[in-house]
Amino acid sequence: MSTPRISIVVPMYNEEENLPELHTRLAKALAGMDPEGEIVYVDDGSTDGTNQQLQTLLQEPQPVCVRAVALPRRRGKTAALSAGFAVARGSILVTTDADLQEPPEVLPMLVARVQSGEAHLVVAWRQQRQDSPFRVFASRVFNTVLRWLTDLPLHDVNCGTKAMKREVAESLAGWMFSDMHRYLPVLAARMGYRVVEVPVPHVVRRRGRSRFGASRYLRAVVDLFPISLMWWRGWAVWLALAAVSVVLQAMRSPLGAVGLAAIVWLGIAVAFWLRRNQT
Ligand code: UDP
Ligand code: MG
Repeated sequence: MSTPRISIVVPMYNEEENLPELHTRLAKALAGMDPEGEIVYVDDGSTDGTNQQLQTLLQEPQPVCVRAVALPRRRGKTAALSAGFAVARGSILVTTDADLQEPPEVLPMLVARVQSGEAHLVVAWRQQRQDSPFRVFASRVFNTVLRWLTDLPLHDVNCGTKAMKREVAESLAGWMFSDMHRYLPVLAARMGYRVVEVPVPHVVRRRGRSRFGASRYLRAVVDLFPISLMWWRGWAVWLALAAVSVVLQAMRSPLGAVGLAAIVWLGIAVAFWLRRNQT
């Protein structure tokens, strides 16, 4: 078996409705780029027929190498990606979601930017996003906060479609816990890798529904705490809050104690949260 240049890693939780079309289109896109390439499907403890469908795919003749990893229970998108990265053999690792919202036909464009040496990591930018107005708004706020924190000119840090050099994925391995998949491009940039974005078309999710509930927003905020401490502006925010609380406390305002207690509690909660998610 020759070594693939490109590995496409797809995390999947209950995506049986999307898998047939996804596989046909992904295999075609990959065969055009690298006939020796591989698709690594990671079943994140699905409770529908995803796993059975994968077993069937593995038994049929395929135009590209197809591999499957099954997690014994649902562990979330970050853990699923991490499991895929651990077995992927390519020198370029591509990730995409199973829901076909970013057409698989855009993948060669992302890979070309990595292959040319222009970037170590390329992240897709859903310029005309086809999600609910609330989600589009939340994403704008998220990306604006990250641009302010990091000074990186990125607009869609959490897009699931990315291509990166293998060494980037290896460097990110220590950050693959909780829902840190949201922050991979900024983490890679902080490590010194060149990160660029490319606009891609976006379509509505035609089958199945989003696998993340409202808890995604809470987790994004909790995960932002350790991320924020990688840039001086993050430290500045927390130190400013602490300083304001100390001053209020000195002025005998009850808000001071509340502020200090909130900062201490947030620190403790985040430490436990991260530990729990590392297992
Ligand atoms: N996913 C996963 N485990 C989870 C949640 C999601 O493997 O716990 C997969 C999901 O099947 C999809 C990708 O991660 O392939 C992105 O999920 P989704 O499209 O539901 O997220 P959204 O687009 O709503 O952010
Ligand atoms: Mg989606």
